[in-house]
Order: sequence, then structure tokens, then C-alpha cells
Amino acid sequence: MIPVVDRPLFFLDYDGTLAPIVDDPDAAVPHPDVPELLRELDNQFPVWIVTGRDLRALASFLDQPLKAIGLHGAQEGVVGGEVQRLMPDDAAKALNCLRRSVPSVDGMHVEDKDQAFAVHYREVDDETETRERLSSWLDAMPEMLDAIWGKKVVELRPDGLTKGTAVRRIADDHPDHTPVYLGDDTTDEDAFAALQDMERDAVTVRVGDEDTQADYRLAGPNEVVEYLRRYV
Ligand SMILES: [Mg+2]
Repeated sequence: MIPVVDRPLFFLDYDGTLAPIVDDPDAAVPHPDVPELLRELDNQFPVWIVTGRDLRALASFLDQPLKAIGLHGAQEGVVGGEVQRLMPDDAAKALNCLRRSVPSVDGMHVEDKDQAFAVHYREVDDETETRERLSSWLDAMPEMLDAIWGKKVVELRPDGLTKGTAVRRIADDHPDHTPVYLGDDTTDEDAFAALQDMERDAVTVRVGDEDTQADYRLAGPNEVVEYLRRYV
């Protein structure tokens, strides 16, 4: 049983955690109970949404001004409000350059974010071949950028700004709270590692069945909602 802590500091991933995974990322509406639940949690505790998405895109799914980390740690701000870029200028330039050289493959879809982009290949004919092609394209990627391989997607973003660096900064600002982090992505592992390195009490939960260094596990958004309800 995942513990319910007294003074939680919530870090909640969006896709796959608060919203079921769907083929079209533009159609990823939250679990029906999530908007009300987030309102109740946010009234009582510090709550941060931590997502790979551009925060401006998230505002179409969440209608309340929650604090948030976007682009896997490269953005910080408020959902539907002001958003600050944390990426240095030279990384932004290198990213634009790389964006212009994405190989062209039928069925592949590029999702442009504020200062990152993701190449989705779940709809191509030959995933293995496409993955190889993308790998060799990325051989020439500058060191200041980082490629994150996810579920049939590769995301290009600045190096050194992760969900882990963001979570560490925010957790440091809340020394009297216990971080409670729920996420289903490869990039959430950076946050689990950061919280474990900090050697303070934290509840780390990987959503889904993939390998993880989190201490606990939940199956999907339904179970996430059930767990979060125990706080309200
Ligand atoms: Mg996710």
C-alpha cells in the first residue's frame, strides 16, 4: 500500500498519469475526476504538474492555474498563465537547426513545442527502420542537446534541464513537505533519482509496468485517482 503522508508536496506528470495515453496527443483529455480532484488538492497542498509538454498546450486540458514544469524541466510557470523558459540561447539555436533537418518518413509526425520538439513514429510502416534512421540522424546532434527515447517517440531538448533538476529545486523550497511524485515516463526516472539522492522522505510512484527505481507502482490513471483521493 502506498503511504499517505501528512504534508505532501505533489509532483504529478500529465500524460499517462492524470490522462490515459491516446494515439493523438491533442486528444489527451484528463481522467474525468481529475479537474475536481486537482482543485481540492491545490487548495490544501502545494501541487506541481511536471510534464514533457509545452505548458501552453496543457492549458487546453487543465482549466486551473496550477504551478507547472514543462518540456521535461526546460520550462517553469503556471498552466494557462505566465511561462518562463529556462533554456540558454545557444541550445535554442542548436535545437532550431536540428528541427530543420528531421528526416522525412511517411506517417511520422513532428510535434513542435516551445523550445523542444518530439518526433512521433507510432504510425509509420516500419518502426525498426524508422528508429534506425532517426538514430543515425541524431549521431550529429550537438552536445548541448539531449535525445530522449520514449514510447514510439523521440524528444529533442536541451541537455542538463530535466524533471530531476526541476524537482530538486522545488523540493528544496519546501523543506517541511514530503515530495510525492507520480509519473509514467522515462524522464520521470530523473525525478525519482533526484528525490532519492536528496536523502529525504519522499514517495516515488511509477505508473505502468516498466522498469523503475521508484519505490511504488500504480497501474494507470484510474489507480492514480484512487490514491490521490485519499488526500481529500
Ligand atoms: Mg507521462
